[in-house]
Amino acid sequence: MKIIDKVNSIKNQELTATENLEQMYNVIQEKNDDINAFVETDLPRAQKVAEDIDKRIKNGEETGKLAGLVIGIKSNINVEDYIISAASPTLKDYIGSYNATVINKIQEEDGVIIGLTNMDEFAAGSSTETSMYGPTDNPSAPGHIPGGSSGGSAAAIASGMCDIALGSDTGGSIRNPASHCGVTGFKPTYGLVSRQGLLDLAMSLDQIGPLAKDVTGIALMLDVITGYDPYDPTTMKKETPEFLPYASNTSLDDMTVGVVKEFMDVTDDKINNKINQSIDTLSNLGAEIKELTFEDITLGLPTYYLINYVEFFSATRKYDGRKYGERIEEVCGPEVSRRIQIGSYISQKEFSGKYYKKALQARSLIRNDFNDLLGNVDIIAGPTVPKLPHKIGEQLDPMDMYAYDVLTVLANITGIPAGSMKAGLVDDIPVGIQLQAKPEEDYKVIKTMSALENN
Ligand code: GLN
Repeated sequence: MKIIDKVNSIKNQELTATENLEQMYNVIQEKNDDINAFVETDLPRAQKVAEDIDKRIKNGEETGKLAGLVIGIKSNINVEDYIISAASPTLKDYIGSYNATVINKIQEEDGVIIGLTNMDEFAAGSSTETSMYGPTDNPSAPGHIPGGSSGGSAAAIASGMCDIALGSDTGGSIRNPASHCGVTGFKPTYGLVSRQGLLDLAMSLDQIGPLAKDVTGIALMLDVITGYDPYDPTTMKKETPEFLPYASNTSLDDMTVGVVKEFMDVTDDKINNKINQSIDTLSNLGAEIKELTFEDITLGLPTYYLINYVEFFSATRKYDGRKYGERIEEVCGPEVSRRIQIGSYISQKEFSGKYYKKALQARSLIRNDFNDLLGNVDIIAGPTVPKLPHKIGEQLDPMDMYAYDVLTVLANITGIPAGSMKAGLVDDIPVGIQLQAKPEEDYKVIKTMSALENN
C-alpha cells in the first residue's frame, strides 16, 4: 500500500492511527536491537498524538496531511524533550528545548513522531559507523553499512519501522543511505526547507529532506515542510508548488533526460548496468535521452570537503563545554576531529586564500557549468553512489570513505534538487538512481521518480 493510500485509509477509518502506530512499534521492538535504526523512542507520547487524531477523525473533524503516519527524525534535528545528540558524546545529554520549524510543521499536519534515528557523528560521514550509539545495520543487505549519514532514517524505512523519516543532506546524506538501503530519498533545492533547529554540518550546503518507501511519501512530506520561514533567512520567499499531484505521474512525454558520461565513468560497471536499464525505462516512458559531459567532476570532492571543513569548524566553536555538553575536541571521534583540525588550519588568514577562497571559486565554476548542463535538459539521471556499501567494521581510509560522495556532492555545491530511488539489485544489494534538476524544479524530480516507480 502506498503512503498516500495509508493516509486515506486512516482518514476513512479503515485503519486507525493507533493501529498504525502499534504495527510500526511492533517492528521496532522486533528488529531494532539488531538494526539500531532508532536511538530513542517515546511510545506513550506518540500514542497520545495518535489517539487524538483518531478521536478527531471519529468526530468528523479535519485532520492534517500526515494524519496518523509514523515519522522518524534524524538525531540532529531539534525535537522538544528528546536527546538531540547528533550521535556525538559532545551532546550526549543535550535535551531539545524547542522544536525545529520542520517538527512544528509535521505536528501541525498530524504526523506521529515515534523517535530519533541514528546517524554519523554530526552528520560527518557516509556509513553511520561513527555514531556514539554504534553502527546501524542495512536491513536490505545485512552486515553492510546502510550508508550515511542518515543511515538510521533509511534503515528505519527499509525495515518498516516508520512511514516517513527526515534526514539531512550536506553532501549526500539522504540520497546515499536511500541508495544503499533501497528506499527513496530527496534533497530539496537549497532554501526550500527551513534549517532552523537543525544542527549545522556546513550551513551553506545543508538541507533537510524526507526518506520514504515510495514517492507519495516524499511528496506528502515536502508539501508539509517546504516554505518560507522567518527564522531561517536562507529560505526562499516564494509560493511552493504542491508536490503530491506529481507523485501520480506516469508519463515522461514532455521531458528531456541527460546522462553524464563522467558520472558513469567513475561508477562500478555492475551498477551502471542497472542504471542503464532504468534509463531505458525513462526512454520507454517517453523521455528524450541526451548524452552530456561534465569535466568538473574532479573538482567536486575537494571543493566540497574544503567548504565543509571550514564551515563545520566554525559551527563547532559553540561546543566549547560552557553552554552545551562537553568540549567537542575532548570527546569527539576521529573523523570529527580531523575536520575540526583541518578546518581550523585552513580558516587561518594566511591559508584561507590558498584553500578556502580557491574552493569558493571552484564552487562558482561548478555551479555555472552545472547550470549550463541543466540548461539543455529537464533532468540529469545517473548513479547515486559509485560503489557498493562495504561490510560494517571494514577499515576504509578517509579518501575511500569520501569517494562514496563523488556523485552526490554536486547537488549541494550547486543547491539543486536531487532524489534517489531504487534502480535494482547488484549482488543482492540495492543500488539507487539519482535524478537532479534545476533549482526550484524539485517537482520535475518528483515527476520523474513517480513515472519510474509506477512503471
Ligand atoms: N559524506 C559526506 C560528508 O561526510 C556528506 C555528509 C552529509 O551529507 N551530511 O560530509
